[in-house]
Order: sequence, then C-alpha cells, then structure tokens
Amino acid sequence: MENQSVVYKASDLSDHGELFRALTPPARLGIFGYPIAHSASPQMQNAALSEKKHPLQYVRIEVAPEELSGALGNLASTGFLGANITIPHKQNALALVEEVSREARLMGAINTISVREEKLHGFNTDGPGFAAAIKEEFGSDLGNFRVLILGGAGGAGRAITIQCVLQACPQIILANRNREKGDLLAREIHDQFGVNVSSLSLDPEKLRKTLAAVDLIVNATPLGMKSGDPSPLPDHLIQLHHLVYDTVYSGETSALLQQAKQMGAKGANGLSMLLHQGALAYEIWFNEQAPLATMRAALSLKADL
Ligand code: NAP
Repeated sequence: MENQSVVYKASDLSDHGELFRALTPPARLGIFGYPIAHSASPQMQNAALSEKKHPLQYVRIEVAPEELSGALGNLASTGFLGANITIPHKQNALALVEEVSREARLMGAINTISVREEKLHGFNTDGPGFAAAIKEEFGSDLGNFRVLILGGAGGAGRAITIQCVLQACPQIILANRNREKGDLLAREIHDQFGVNVSSLSLDPEKLRKTLAAVDLIVNATPLGMKSGDPSPLPDHLIQLHHLVYDTVYSGETSALLQQAKQMGAKGANGLSMLLHQGALAYEIWFNEQAPLATMRAALSLKADL
C-alpha cells in the first residue's frame, strides 16, 4: 500500500485513471474535498479493505470547487467503485449525480457516491452516522433528546437537523451564523414534514434562554478544526445536565468540549460519527457488513498520534 498521506489531484482522474490503476493495490475508492489533508477516512477505510481482503485502496483527492463537476464526470471511467464527498462539496455534489437516495434528497447534500452500471448514485450517511454516534456515546436514542444544532444550516448541520426530524426529536432548534439560511431550512422542513423547527442566530442572549430546555448540544460549525479556534458558544452557557457532541474531530479537545468538562457535563468528539458514517458508506459500496472493530481501532490509532 502506498503512503496513505499522499494527496492526489483532480487531474489525476483524467486519462481513465491510469495513475490509480497502476498503484498497488489499485485505487478504486477515494475522498474528494478541499482541503483534504486532515481527513482520517483513508486510514479507517483502508483498514477495512485490508481486513476484508478487498484488493483495492482508498485515496485522498484534493478537488477545488471549480474542479468538482469534471472530477465526478471522470469517476466512472476511472474504474472507481465510489467516493466520499466532504467539505465544501456536499451540497453541490447532489446536482452532479444521476440518482439520489430519499434521505440525501431530504438532507439536500450527499457524502457518499456508489458507481453502479456507470451511473453515479448519491447517498447521505452523515445523518444516520450521527444518530448511531449519539446512541453509542450517550446510551439513548437521538429521538429522546431536545436538540440544539449550532451551524444547523451547513452541510453536516442540515443532515443532522433532518435526522432529528426523521427520528421525531421532541424539540429541534437550529442556530446558524447566517440566520436567513436557518430560517429558510426551518420553512422547508415545515413545508415538507409539517414539523416546527426553531431557527436562531448565534446571539448569546437568545442561546442562553433556549439552553435550559435543551438536552443535547451539537456543534456542526468548523470551529475547533484549527488549533486555538474559539468555542461556538460563549462561556458559562453549558449546564450540568447537557450532553455535548462536537462533530469536529482533531487531535485536541475543542474549546466547546473544554467548557463542557469544566461544567461537569458529558461530551464527545466527532470520531464516533466519522466511524459510523464511514461504516455505512462501506456497506453501500460492498453490500456487506463493515468491520466496525477494525475501523474503530484504525481511528483510535489516529487519535493517539
Ligand atoms: P459547511 O457546509 O461549510 O457548513 C459550515 C457551517 O458552520 C455553516 O452553518 C456556517 O454558517 C457555520 N460556520 C462556519 N464558520 C463559522 C464561524 N466562524 N462561526 C460560526 N459559524 C460558522 O461545512 P460542513 O461540511 O457542514 O462541515 C462542518 C464541520 O462538520 C466540519 O468542520 C467537520 O469537522 C464536521 N463534520 C464532521 C463529520 C464527522 O463524521 N465527524 C462529518 C461531517 C462534518 P453560515 O451558514 O453562516 O456560513
């Protein structure tokens, strides 16, 4: 297997993917994003491929926004089985595939593509992966919680908000920096599902009033990806009864999770969501159960680095 930290380019997908076919084993899966060097998906998926003896590898490919359409157009002819799509392409990629699953259509974004008879099929495993992570981390179904989603109108935030609707959470509040985007999503959800979702800005006073009636706080903004990033919540808003899930995973404890710890509230980072969304993507590509323990171990190694 080649060095897993190699970053390939969108242009490497041209020429019918000669470069990827020549690797040992050949690359037939990958993750498209911009930036992409931070992604832990290659080591998790390559551990699974190796465990299940699939003679192929999963690579990271840097695809700038203006290259996305061309890169997806070349995917079938390279012999790829599929791909994952990440920041910032999840919403734009939906319009570039031939078939879209019902959940992905509702979520307005895709994070997984499967190539079937030369056609691209789009799926979204972020929502169900998030729900599985919440069950694992906090021991109860997502549908039992009153939820506040910070960054709820972004790509991952949208998937999480819709998952909360699908699981009938008793209270769903989305707080988005751009309030209009949040209001628009709340209206779409009302029209499509008849469910009322509250939409707020990130104004500290509004958040403070809301938080007493919330069980689960979710960060779906990128704050925490970079060392020294501030928390998306002002200090002293988290209370002892809160469960705090930060979808961001980096080597460090985020400022949000530090606030939770200081208040004695339970918190978890996004590695468990990464694991479960990745396992669901594997199952879409291979139609067989993902080797979850192997994938989990591959991520723990990353977390210890
Ligand atoms: P995205 O589509 O660009 O959405 C970003 C969201 O965050 C938007 O709601 C945006 O608000 C908000 N935001 C951005 N910068 C902000 C700031 N400085 N302060 C407050 N809000 C800010 O990105 P995405 O694809 O959803 O990814 C977001 C994060 O989710 C990533 O950092 C990633 O770590 C995490 N994620 C984790 C997993 C996992 O498996 N653990 C999976 C997917 C994503 P506006 O609408 O106002 O721009």
